[in-house]
Amino acid sequence: MKQVWRPFSNPQLLVSKVFRARASFLSNNPSTRTLYSGRYSYGLRGLLKANALLKQGCSWKIGNGLSTPAGSARWVNGCIPEFKPGISLPNLAPHNVIFFINHQTMGWDTAKVVASFVPADASSILVLEAPNTAQEDFCYWAGTSSGKYSVKTGYAMLQQQLYSTSTHSATDSFWKILWSLPLQPKWKLFLWKLLHRALAIKVELYRRGVPIQDVFCDLCRSEPEDLQHLFRMCVTARSVWRGGCLGIHSEFNGDLSLSDWIQYYIRLFISLDGPSSTRLGAFVGTLWTLWLSRNSRIFRDSSASRPFDSLLAEVMDNHSIFVNSEAPASSPNEAGVVAGDSSPPGFYMAQLGRPPGEPFAFSSSRWLMV
Ligand SMILES: [Zn+2]
Repeated sequence: MKQVWRPFSNPQLLVSKVFRARASFLSNNPSTRTLYSGRYSYGLRGLLKANALLKQGCSWKIGNGLSTPAGSARWVNGCIPEFKPGISLPNLAPHNVIFFINHQTMGWDTAKVVASFVPADASSILVLEAPNTAQEDFCYWAGTSSGKYSVKTGYAMLQQQLYSTSTHSATDSFWKILWSLPLQPKWKLFLWKLLHRALAIKVELYRRGVPIQDVFCDLCRSEPEDLQHLFRMCVTARSVWRGGCLGIHSEFNGDLSLSDWIQYYIRLFISLDGPSSTRLGAFVGTLWTLWLSRNSRIFRDSSASRPFDSLLAEVMDNHSIFVNSEAPASSPNEAGVVAGDSSPPGFYMAQLGRPPGEPFAFSSSRWLMV
């Protein structure tokens, strides 16, 4: 991938000009696909394959919006935004991002954005930096703060993808593993609620029709407070993960759902260190502390909020005391939970905010403690 990044980021080089004559690397334009047909060398074939992989880790910064397809490019925080159901594909085909730019205000066309995208993605688009229509759209590597590709982050992306595809169907067995881990019961319950989107954060409340003032993160005020943002993408979360003992780049591979991301690390630490992994404790402890810190911010006087490091140190002290003094549950039954993705005791399926007369929809229901 580094060999692709080099000609892409240095268009003045002779090698860049030679390769660009045969294929347009990292291009969003579907018409360039025609350049990939015909005979080409093994070397060029390898570069094209690397180009396809590299593209998955790149994001687009919108300038004039002319060359970026709104429905197939990763231009919203490294993700492809989702159109509202009911918008027909023929209507979407010609829509490059320029369609959603208001050239009189030089900002986003709120009406078009809200009418076209699902609420969460529409909110994300409207808080993006206003497009600079004087320059062209450009591509950057999402895994580093500089926007430049590095081999280390490229390798990490491929590792996460490999894990995601090979273990995605093994979610059920994950719960068996989780219930048997030597973690505090409140941590396990927290993880279970987190992975079932049962935590009362703003975007989840909004989706259930609960009236709230706004959906934005109280810390950075720049993004909606959804699970992915709160635990991975918020500037605070990024800094906590990167600066912590695990050195995790949480923003990397943003396409991976929070659930897959968490399962990846839990399985990784167990496979490397065993069920009593210190790194596993630090990982779950960091998630738990992010949650405590957020609640402290929301529900208490901000002056009473403690520094994150101090809170994390106390959380990890409690974890050590638990691990050293309590006999961990050795089987799923001891944790009081049956095998598989079943609910813990005291949890039931409920659907909030359902309009009268509308049939029950499993997909929009959630597990809640009652
Ligand atoms: Zn934030």
